[in-house]
Amino acid sequence: MSSSSHAPAAPIPISSPPSSSLHRNTSTSRGPRRQSTSTGTSSGGLGRRPSRVVHPPMVPKILSHDEAVEALRSFLRERSSYDVFPVSFRLIVLDTTLKVKKALEVMLLYNVVSAPLWNTAEAKFAGMFTVQDVIHLIQYYYHTSSWEGAAADVEQIRLFRIREVEKTLSVPPPPLLSVHPLRPLYDACRFLIRTHARRLPLIDKDTQTNGEVVISVLTQYRVLKFIATNCRDITQYLTSTLQDLGIGTYVSPEHDSNSENQFYPIATATMQTAVFDVVHMFSERGISAVPIVDDNGKVLDLYETVDVITLVRNGAYQALDLTIAQALKQRTADFPGVVTCSPKSSLSAVFSLIRMRRVHRLVVVAGPEDSQPGRLVGIISLSDIMRSLMGNDVPLGGSGIGAVPIDRELREEAAETGHEPFTLGQSVE
Ligand code: ATP
Repeated sequence: MSSSSHAPAAPIPISSPPSSSLHRNTSTSRGPRRQSTSTGTSSGGLGRRPSRVVHPPMVPKILSHDEAVEALRSFLRERSSYDVFPVSFRLIVLDTTLKVKKALEVMLLYNVVSAPLWNTAEAKFAGMFTVQDVIHLIQYYYHTSSWEGAAADVEQIRLFRIREVEKTLSVPPPPLLSVHPLRPLYDACRFLIRTHARRLPLIDKDTQTNGEVVISVLTQYRVLKFIATNCRDITQYLTSTLQDLGIGTYVSPEHDSNSENQFYPIATATMQTAVFDVVHMFSERGISAVPIVDDNGKVLDLYETVDVITLVRNGAYQALDLTIAQALKQRTADFPGVVTCSPKSSLSAVFSLIRMRRVHRLVVVAGPEDSQPGRLVGIISLSDIMRSLMGNDVPLGGSGIGAVPIDRELREEAAETGHEPFTLGQSVE
C-alpha cells in the first residue's frame, strides 16, 4: 500500500497486516438519527431494525480463493443492509426545492459528497444529488453561458431543475433506485453492480403514516468495508492476484489500433491538461478519476470528481480553465493521497487495505522490477472489486443508463423469488 499527496510511493505489500479484533464499522459520527433539511418524514412507526450483533462467519478450514468468494456471498445473503450501519449515524437529506448553491454548502459543512433528495410536496423520496449532477451542471454552463451568467444562475437554480439540465445535455436521467433495508445484502450488492448506481438509497415505510422514510444510503465502500472488518477470516484466503482475476481496467493499446492513447482504454491527463477537459472525460466516460501521468507514463497523481466539487464549492467557476497542476495546488491538506498497488497484489491485500483506511480506488503501477517502475498499468475501482465478488454473470448497467431493461429484469427476478421488487422509477419531477 502507498499513499501520498502528489506522488504515489511503494505498492501494497502482498503480506497480511497484523491481526486486529473484529469490530463493526462505526466510522460515521454518532449523533441524532437524522439531520435533514427536509421535515417530510417521521421515524415514529419504524423501529423494525433488528438489534443483533454481526457475528463473524465460522471458517473451519483452509479455503481456496473460489471457496472464500462463495463464503463471502453466503455471509452477504445472511445479512441485510441494516447490518452495515452503526446503531447511530447521521443522514443528510436535501429538499428538492433547495438551491444548488445551498445544497453544496450543506454538503461541505457535513463533509458528504452525495445526499438523498426529498420531495416535501409529495412527501416522497426523490432520488440522489451526487457529484455526477454537479459535473453535468458544469458542462451545461460551460457550453451555454458566460462565467458571470453561470455564477449568477447557480445562485438561483434549485435541485429539482437538474434533471432539465440533463435533458438539455442529452444525458440519461439517473434511475430512481432504492431498496428496502431488510432485503438481503447480497441482493442489494447485485443491484448496485447491475445498475452501476454507485449508491443505493434504503427506503422503508412508516407503519403509522404509510409514508416513505429514507433510512440511509448503501455505498460500495460501506459494503466492502463491512466485509473487510467482519470477514477477515475469509478474506485472508482471497489469495489470487488482481492480474489473474482481471480485476480493474488495464492498459492495452494494442486493442485499439485507431487510438493514439498509449494508455488505452484508460483515460489519463497530464499536469498541463485543462480541468474542463478532465471534467468532460468524467462525463463522457462515466468515470470518477483520471490518473495524471508524465511523458514516460509514470503516475504523478489522480484527479477525481470530488476535486472538481472542491473547486466549485469555492465558487471558482473560472477554475475549470486552470491546468491540473494549478488545480491540484487548491487541494485541501486532508487529501488522503493516491493509493497504488502492483498487478501481483492479492485481493486479500486489497481487503486488508480497505480494513485499515478509506480507499475508493487504486492505481495499478509497474513494480520496482519493471524497467519503468511507477508506470501506469491499470486502475481498480470499488465497482471492479464488488463485481469480482458478486460474479461476472451480473451484467453491466452503465452509469444511470438502461433503467428500463434493468427494471424489467428486476421485476422478473422479483416475480421468481417472491421478493418485493426494487424500486425503479423515472426521475425527480
Ligand atoms: P465511484 O468510484 O464513482 O464510486 P466506481 O467504483 O464505479 O464508482 P469508476 O471510477 O466510475 O468507479 O469506474 C467505473 C469503471 O471504469 C471501472 O470498471 C474502472 O476500472 C473503470 N475506470 C475507472 N477509471 C478509469 C479511467 N480513468 N479510464 C478508464 N476506465 C476507468
